[in-house]
Parts: sequence; structure tokens; C-alpha cells
Amino acid sequence: MTERPQRRVQPRDDVALMEGYHSPQVEVKVRLNTNEAPEPPPTAFTERLGDEIRRIEWHRYPDRAATELRAAIADLHDVRPDQVFAANGSNEVLQTLCLTYGGHGRTAAVFEPTYALHSHIAELTGTSVASGERRDDFTLDMDEVDRVLEHGRPDITFLCSPNNPSGLVETEDTVRRVLELAPGLVVVDEAYGQFAPWSALDLVHEERPLVVTRTYSKTWSMAAARLGYLIGPSWLVRELDKVVLPYHLDSFKQIAGRLALEYRHEMDARVAALVEERGRLSAALRDLPLDVWPSGANFVLVRPQTVDGNDVWQALLDRSILVRNCASWPRLDGCLRITIGTEEEDDALLSALQEVLT
Ligand code: PMP
Repeated sequence: MTERPQRRVQPRDDVALMEGYHSPQVEVKVRLNTNEAPEPPPTAFTERLGDEIRRIEWHRYPDRAATELRAAIADLHDVRPDQVFAANGSNEVLQTLCLTYGGHGRTAAVFEPTYALHSHIAELTGTSVASGERRDDFTLDMDEVDRVLEHGRPDITFLCSPNNPSGLVETEDTVRRVLELAPGLVVVDEAYGQFAPWSALDLVHEERPLVVTRTYSKTWSMAAARLGYLIGPSWLVRELDKVVLPYHLDSFKQIAGRLALEYRHEMDARVAALVEERGRLSAALRDLPLDVWPSGANFVLVRPQTVDGNDVWQALLDRSILVRNCASWPRLDGCLRITIGTEEEDDALLSALQEVLT
């Protein structure tokens, strides 16, 4: 008998060193940790979705080009369908961008603290990460941006507006200046864009290497569906279409995404209500011994001044309230990120904080 070669089933060296991305999911009464919408989509939407999924030809592959979904998203943003690329959550949009424009020997720039998945997805796709630091108040320092872009010559530069986890919104001037300085593609992640006073969508143009990513997970109350998209130049969308797996968007999701946009007025009203609730919650948080960052998103970042952040997080959990503990994230020692919930949920959080902090 010939001897079998010894098997070696090991991940890539860089994957073996990674910790992965973790966000604890615990059964609690008040869930304010993952920036979801506090309420499900309108009942009329779920009823119509039920009717439409009964008509799906389940034995057939879905429309590979997601024609109707792209058309509906294009209509929402007043662009052409060939400027729209959709995928399974905006995370998959970001991954497809990295697979297409990043990879071995290429670099992506991020400015910390920011959304952890930008550097994580970059690394997963073999893209090197050039990391810059934001100022102490987490605003972007253009000298630092200049230094990182000049030094790292990144193929992709990530901005996040509003930025997760700080909630800060980049100004139009900042995005334009980054576009001038960046040697490659600029990605503005607007997962929370609808909650902010302006959007970089207006800057998208065939002649500009800029894409803006959006998600159905927040505003559209559809985190369960996993759907996100980007708006960008059509020449870039054509490249992404080559890279993404065939039939990556199932028929159910395509229908859900198209139908949801028919309820845009209801969603606009919900966004307006959340923005108002954000104002109320932020003001109440400022009355407590907390540093509170100004937010343009559906969450608020805070840092307790008198009690350790980990202890506050645990004390809230003991009261069945889950917020995001950011202690292990770069430069966010002691910080907690709180999703805007319903009025009742936020009141529960405020009275628990009152108890824990004073
Ligand atoms: N970008 C940012 C800034 C986010 O906070 C999130 C969700 N946490 C995403 C993208 C991913 O959203 P999804 O994959 O649900 O569309």
C-alpha cells in the first residue's frame, strides 16, 4: 500500500491570527446594542410581501441582475439602475469592493475609531490596511488624512458618515477634500445616512471615483433580510458585477427590497421620529455624569465620567438592558454605544443609568 500524504487542514496564516467579529446577542428586555430599527416594518408591507413570496418560482434561480430591485433603488435616489449595486447587507457590498479594488499588494485606508468591519473585511480580502488616527474628539484631522494618503497611497479610502461608533457626520467639505487627496477609490459608508443632515449621494458622478453605501438594516427595519447597496459610477458597478457570486441575491430579498421602497413615506416619518427621540435621549444623557458625543445617526456614544464603563455595561445588563460595550475598540476605553430605541425603551435605559451612575 502506498502511504497517504499527511493531511494539513489549516486556515491561511493571517486568518489563523484573526479573532473574527463578535457582537454578543443576549436575551434581554431592552436591546439597544446593534443599531437596528426599534420597530418592525409597516404591517401592510409584510402582508404584501407574504402575497408576493407565494408567487415566487422557487425551483428557478433568481433574476441575476436584480433588475426590478435596482430600478426601484435607482428611482429612490434619482440615478440610473446601472449606478446601483446590491448585495447581502452593506457588509457584502464592502467585501465586494475590497475583492474588486483591494487584494494582495493593495491598500485600504481607515481613520480610527471607525466601523471595525472596514479594516476587518480589508484584511480578510488580503488588502493591507493603512490606519490613521482621528483627533481626540473623533473628528477627522485633514493633516493626518493627507499624511496617511500620501504615505500609504491607498487603493481604497474608507469614510463613514455618520461614523460608527462616534455618530459624527463628515461635512461635505471634508468628503470633497478627501476626494481631492485620495489616489484611488473613496467609499463613504452611509449605513446611517438617512439620520444625518446631508448625504454624499449628491457627489456621486460618472467622473468621480466615489461610491456611497447604504443598508436596509436600519431605516427600512429589515436587518433580518440582509440587504444593502451602493450608488456609484456605472463603470465601477460593472466591475463589481463580475466579482460577486452568481445569483447572490435571492428572489425573496429582491422582492422585499423593492416592496419596502413603496413605503418610503412611512419610513421617512419613522426616521424623523427617531431623530427627534435622539434629541430627547441625548439631552437627558447630558444631564447625567457622561461624556456624550453629538450624533447624526440612530445611536449615541457615551463615556461614563465617574464609574468604569464595563461596570456600567454589566449593571445595565443585570437590569435586562443591552448596550454595546466599546471598551475593547481602539481608543474607546470606557465607552458605551446606545441605539435609539422606542420612548419606553429609552426611558428604561435612562432610569437604569440614573440608578447606576448617581
Ligand atoms: N456600515 C456600518 C457603518 C454599520 O454600522 C453597519 C452595521 N453595523 C454596516 C455597514 C453593515 O450593515 P448591513 O450589513 O446590515 O447592511
